[in-house]
Amino acid sequence: MAGGFEKTDWIWRDGEFLRWEDATIHVMSHVAHYGSSIFEGIRCYATPNGAAIFRLEDHMKRFLDSGKVYRMEIDYSVEELSLIVEETVRRNNLPEGYIRPLAMRGYGSPGLNPATSPLHLYVICWPWGAYLGDEGMQKGVDAGVSSWQRMEPNTFPALAKAGGNYLNAGLMRMEAVANGFAEAIALGPGGLVSEGSGQNVFLVRDGLLITPALDGTLLPGLTRDSIITLAKDIGIPVSEQPVPREMLYTCDEAFFTGTAAEVTPIRSVDRIPVGTGTVGPITRTLQSRFLGIARGQIPDSYGWCRVVRTGGAVPVG
Ligand code: PMP
Repeated sequence: MAGGFEKTDWIWRDGEFLRWEDATIHVMSHVAHYGSSIFEGIRCYATPNGAAIFRLEDHMKRFLDSGKVYRMEIDYSVEELSLIVEETVRRNNLPEGYIRPLAMRGYGSPGLNPATSPLHLYVICWPWGAYLGDEGMQKGVDAGVSSWQRMEPNTFPALAKAGGNYLNAGLMRMEAVANGFAEAIALGPGGLVSEGSGQNVFLVRDGLLITPALDGTLLPGLTRDSIITLAKDIGIPVSEQPVPREMLYTCDEAFFTGTAAEVTPIRSVDRIPVGTGTVGPITRTLQSRFLGIARGQIPDSYGWCRVVRTGGAVPVG
């Protein structure tokens, strides 16, 4: 265990594999002072065909998009990055867990302009179970609306998954835990519902599945996208729209989506029960379809799961 979680043996950095213990950075790295990193969070599931990575190419596409916003030159294609991720999972013999591609500004410029700071790329993976707990997945979690709000559009780009954005998310999460909640729900600068600290939010009201639209305050989650797709395909109408805070209290069902949180039901918000305070039927259906596909128990007609090939190594640099 390292810092409360289980480590693996190998971390890929800039074209080579390092031992976990050797993947250290200098204290003058730009990222340590200014939060100048972008990253991804991806899950790999144990399936009957072996480890399968969920929506790998889409995650790597978002990674490159995040880099582009922050003027980071990442000289790898989506497929090259995907092969590196695959190789990292294979080399660590990780049957299932979490994968963290990361690009960070290194040791160079002491000032804000990172022109002389090299960009370093990493791929890390480790075992990671249910983010909000197994019981949370079954019975739902208690959430609280945060006193912190998400950033205004055109301040910190919300479409980019950047390290610095998580200072805001961390404030929310710490406050939620201090108040006895499992997770926070943030409002945007206009007072409308935005997202969780590291999840998107969905509500159900009278059979309609509702989620905040991409308004420049929230991350376009790939789990969000998967759930919208699955819902439409089984005939559940979906609305991406402005969501007033009070809808959190009057809806029939609510849940979080995210790579780490997967599909986690919300059973109360600000101690007001969501619906009857139990997990609703639409939440349960979407949760089991999502996990069924990711775990290879339901056929993947979307091409979302990429089985990690065993045997021959692929180029890593
Ligand atoms: N919002 C934030 C702020 C997040 O960090 C995440 C997790 N990446 C999400 C939403 C959910 O995104 P995804 O489903 O792609 O993991």
